[in-house]
Amino acid sequence: MPYDGKLLARAREALEQQKQANQNEQQRRLKEVSARAPQLDTISFGLRRQMAELARLSLSHSADLSERLAALQRENLELQAQRLELLRSLGLPENYLDEIISCSICRDSGMDGNQPCRCLRKYYNQALTAELGTLLRHGDESFERFDLTLYDETPLPGDSVSPRFAMEQILRQCRKFADNFPAVSSNLLFQGGNGLGKTYLSACIARVVAEKGYSVCYESASAALEAYETQKFTRDEEAAAAAAQRVRGMEDCDLMILDDLGTELTTSVSMSALYTLINKRLIAGKKTIISTNLSDEELQRRYSAQICSRIRGEFLRLHFIGRDIRLMKK
Ligand SMILES: [Zn+2]
Repeated sequence: MPYDGKLLARAREALEQQKQANQNEQQRRLKEVSARAPQLDTISFGLRRQMAELARLSLSHSADLSERLAALQRENLELQAQRLELLRSLGLPENYLDEIISCSICRDSGMDGNQPCRCLRKYYNQALTAELGTLLRHGDESFERFDLTLYDETPLPGDSVSPRFAMEQILRQCRKFADNFPAVSSNLLFQGGNGLGKTYLSACIARVVAEKGYSVCYESASAALEAYETQKFTRDEEAAAAAAQRVRGMEDCDLMILDDLGTELTTSVSMSALYTLINKRLIAGKKTIISTNLSDEELQRRYSAQICSRIRGEFLRLHFIGRDIRLMKK
């Protein structure tokens, strides 16, 4: 996966902060132990002196080098044993004063061979998720807080099920999707009018998936398709590069949430961009959530047969019904 330089820099910064926090903790432990057992300072001083001696010896060519090295090693083992004994007597674990490493794979270097390590990728995905600011704007979207009582218990005229019953099913599907991610078989299509909770449930899923360390990308359909257009047609190199980066993010992220499909301008470029985005992600086996106010007939009228057949075949359609809960809340 190609990495966004800005986000990668933020991920490295997070890794540095973790390393710094580990160093601070090690220093704190040293102070703590030395306050409880001042002999530690003598031992630590001795160990440091031995390291310096070792460095000096390794550069020298004296005749009795091997004997002096062996003696140094004996003294070193002796001091280490004393330190261990001291820690035991204080009831502390043997490695209590060792350097603290958060990731055993890369030893906090961030690199696993010539690839970014899993720990760095986790920070990267967190940085990417922080970009979800517009979606997670309230900061409290969660399945637990989703209020089913805002939905009517009696069916609307012409419907056979009540909005509350329908939303219970949808809530269950969304939870299942988030909990099982990425091992989910279907993509999701949220269909229904404004103010029925489509964006809210997108945010709930995004939060759970992102917290698991997967990358999530959220864009309105108009912004998403505009990025494709800019990438292709702008003469401004910087804008083109930024748009290309955005397009790659949308195509490569683990979960793409495409909001408000149907509000974008319909041009041949935007239609082909939409197909590209949906199709590339399907081929790569990556999951997408699309939300739209359009009905099936409206989707068919607006989009090509190619796009409609991909949506029909690969997306689980969830019909949000009821009255605008944003209006009811007011
Ligand atoms: Zn690592």
